[in-house]
Amino acid sequence: MPTLLPPPTRHVLQDGTLLDSFPVRVFGEFTANIYVLRRGEYTALIDTGSGTPQSNADLAAGFAALAEPLAWRDVSRIVITHGHIDHHGGLDYVRTLTDAPVAVHALDRPVLTAYRERTVLTSRALRAFLHEAGVDSAGVADFMAMYGAGKTRFKGGPVETVLQHGDVLDGIFRVIHTPGHCPGQVCLRVGEVLLSADQVLSRTTPHLSAESITLGNGLSHYFHSLDLLDAEEGVTLTLAGHEAPIHDLRARTAAIRAAHQRKLERILAICAVPHSLQAVNAQLYPNVKRYDTLLALEKVGALVEYLNARGELRVANLAQMESDEHAAPLYQTA
Ligand SMILES: [Zn+2]
Ligand SMILES: [Zn+2]
Repeated sequence: MPTLLPPPTRHVLQDGTLLDSFPVRVFGEFTANIYVLRRGEYTALIDTGSGTPQSNADLAAGFAALAEPLAWRDVSRIVITHGHIDHHGGLDYVRTLTDAPVAVHALDRPVLTAYRERTVLTSRALRAFLHEAGVDSAGVADFMAMYGAGKTRFKGGPVETVLQHGDVLDGIFRVIHTPGHCPGQVCLRVGEVLLSADQVLSRTTPHLSAESITLGNGLSHYFHSLDLLDAEEGVTLTLAGHEAPIHDLRARTAAIRAAHQRKLERILAICAVPHSLQAVNAQLYPNVKRYDTLLALEKVGALVEYLNARGELRVANLAQMESDEHAAPLYQTA
């Protein structure tokens, strides 16, 4: 039985700006949040769902159910918070409904303008990462098939506005560049509200993958981006790309930090004896299956990379790596 989606909810900001929100099903029953900001004649759509038929249908239905009717042609701006398919994949569809200019951070612009290139380059880097992780050839082929599924659907197109940290888009959104989860992810500050994209979620720890796969990803960037959000004063409501509103941003960032810290400590304990990245993953996440194993490997890759870059994990099989280009590094606690 498919779940019924809740109707749009509305937040009225202190200055009267209206911020409506509704979820769309982006993959199966997994939902992402769409935001519609209105101030006077100005209307911005923030994120577009995944572009699957279900996601597009939910987007159209959510839009039609807004408290005050809104025509697609009256949208003045589209903002893509980051270049992940569950946020930008619906852009092809939205572009058939409105000519509103699209804004995205410089580092995620190529995801929208040169999607195929991004996909090919990232696939290459992911394949190399999986070999380095100690995954055998059959396993790599299996993971690569999962990674490639659905990657041909999005076409993309021009980006009218390229965002940088500190910009104030349309006089409304102050842009906070928060790489780590995605290289060009932005959080948007509007009055007392923070739109946190996938940087801070209410329940789950946002996904991370290794910077060796994509520049601008990884735990160092992610922690630094949390610092930027902790420095924000006067945030009373945080609205994220998934899950529920967050009422205490700093408590939530502290909890996410602590969750990563516990994982880092567990990895250091596991690597008291040398382990490949894949072997670390099998110990940390013994029960995950299929696509979740790939996500877990990417995450463990980010954590191991972080520890190795700081000299807390060392490579134990250097001689083997020098003589065999296919040998995966075995990590040992320093
Ligand atoms: Zn994301
Ligand atoms: Zn997301």
